[in-house]
This record gives sequence, C-alpha cells and structure tokens, in this order.
Amino acid sequence: MTVDIHQPYDDNNIFARIIRGEIPCKKVFENDQVLAFHDINPQAPVHILVIPKGRYVSWDDFSEKASDTEIAALTRAVGQISRDPALNNGYRLIVNCGHDADQLVPHLHIHILSGKELGAKLI
Ligand code: 5GP
Repeated sequence: MTVDIHQPYDDNNIFARIIRGEIPCKKVFENDQVLAFHDINPQAPVHILVIPKGRYVSWDDFSEKASDTEIAALTRAVGQISRDPALNNGYRLIVNCGHDADQLVPHLHIHILSGKELGAKLI
C-alpha cells in the first residue's frame, strides 16, 4: 500500500524497526542522526537507502519538523556516501513521497543509485 503523506508516523514501519535493531540491515553509514544501508531489492549495482533516525514520513514532514542539525546531518551523510569511489562515475538520488510517487515505506528515505548507466530519466 502506498503512503499517505499526511498519515501520522507509524512506529512499527520497517525502517523504524531497522533503526531500533529489530530487523537486520547491511549498514554502510551511521551516526547519531542518520542511518544508511543497502536496499534489500537493489535496482542498480549500488542501491543505498539513507534515512534520518527521527520520525518523519516524507520530505515535507522532515523539512517542517526536523532541526537544522538533522537536516544538515542527512545532507552531509548523502554527500559522504556519494564520495565513495564506487560512485565515481555518477549517481542518482530519488526520494519518493506519497501515493503519486509510489512511496511504500512510511519513513523518509533517500535512494542512492549508482554503478551503471541508469537509463531514462523521468525529467
Ligand atoms: P519506496 O518505494 O518507499 O521509495 O522504497 C522503499 C524501498 O525499501 C524499496 O526499494 C525496497 O526494496 C526497500 N525495502 C523494503 N523493505 C526493506 C527491508 O526490510 N530492508 C531493506 N534493506 N530494504 C527494504
């Protein structure tokens, strides 16, 4: 089922459970504010999900409620991961928010895709 961007945060969503360590993940980055891990169903040789540890459903929610520290931490984490040599040839960031974007997990996440020519762009 797709996410309603106005729904209250669900503490039992899969990424909340990954943050709490209840479900394993292949971690690539972690600090106090951010966790990044490999997508379970990769769409490219590199497919990493970067998530804030705070309780945010979507970008609009995050940008309204997160502290400047959390926003900076997420931005810098994506930047740090994207400087990995494996992403040297370029990368694509995707953030699906809500029903029309087919968001499936109701916790904000940034997809980092890389490792091959990624093909047609939507825009
Ligand atoms: P969305 O469609 O919401 O933008 O993306 C959700 C992503 O989460 C999908 O790419 C999906 O493969 C990934 N995903 C769903 N469940 C899990 C899980 O339990 N572990 C990991 N690592 N990724 C997951």
